[in-house]
Amino acid sequence: MQDMRQGSLVRVPGRHRATRAPLSWAGLSLGRAVAVLAVVVAVSVWLWQVRPFDSRHGLGADAPPAGIGAARAPLGAPPSMPGGHGGYTFMRMQGNGADPVAYDPCRPIHFTTSTVGLPPGGDALVREAVATMSAASGLRFVDDGLTDEPPTPERDPYQPDRYGDRWAPVYVSFATPEQIPRLAGGTVGLGGSTPRAAGDGVLVYVTGSVWLDRAAMDDLLAAGRRDSARAVVEHEIGHVLGLNHVSDATQLMSETGGTGAGPSDGDRRGLAILGRGVCRPDL
Ligand SMILES: [Zn+2]
Repeated sequence: MQDMRQGSLVRVPGRHRATRAPLSWAGLSLGRAVAVLAVVVAVSVWLWQVRPFDSRHGLGADAPPAGIGAARAPLGAPPSMPGGHGGYTFMRMQGNGADPVAYDPCRPIHFTTSTVGLPPGGDALVREAVATMSAASGLRFVDDGLTDEPPTPERDPYQPDRYGDRWAPVYVSFATPEQIPRLAGGTVGLGGSTPRAAGDGVLVYVTGSVWLDRAAMDDLLAAGRRDSARAVVEHEIGHVLGLNHVSDATQLMSETGGTGAGPSDGDRRGLAILGRGVCRPDL
């Protein structure tokens, strides 16, 4: 991998640590000891930088042909901006400083769930969370079903041998800290996406990953806290779509993971903006 890496100071309970990561990840942490008692979470945020842009992008060996699956117009319609209270922040902004980096609304966001470590009902949980975040953003998702792709810390966004000549689907897995070291220390989930730059420098997300801590999710499900487990998945998909954390504890994208009731008004406003990204058939 030729990723440019950017270290960032990450604040976690009782300690600081510097991390280096190639992608954009924000983690929702959940103390294992309190996992079945309350969704008391702390957060680790990993900042990232896009891969160095290759002038052969779209034509090079590390990218599919441009415009795979792209329609002429957005596939869905983002809902109108809801009222209520609560804010939103974005994972990454465009170079103009005004617009967030988002997915292309003219093509579906394919996603796949790994069979590796998948708990009973885990794929249904993922589908429910995806449906909620799709409705809130207006972005169309397509379930590519299950994959045996194992969780690895650095995932190639283009895997033609496994997924064909297209960007790899967004990948969801229930993983262990041994597989994904950034899940160590009580982090219950990680989510983020990989952007690519168009010729004019506009960034568009092309794929992403959600890594869920298998043991913490098992604890939540075993305790009957399905709403909390689904909220963890929704929160991480929020990161995949481009939302970052807010300080308002009532929002899904708060560092404490919200109330378990899905996206709140601030989350929904942010998602509606992310659903209004630009169509880029040149990627
Ligand atoms: Zn988070």
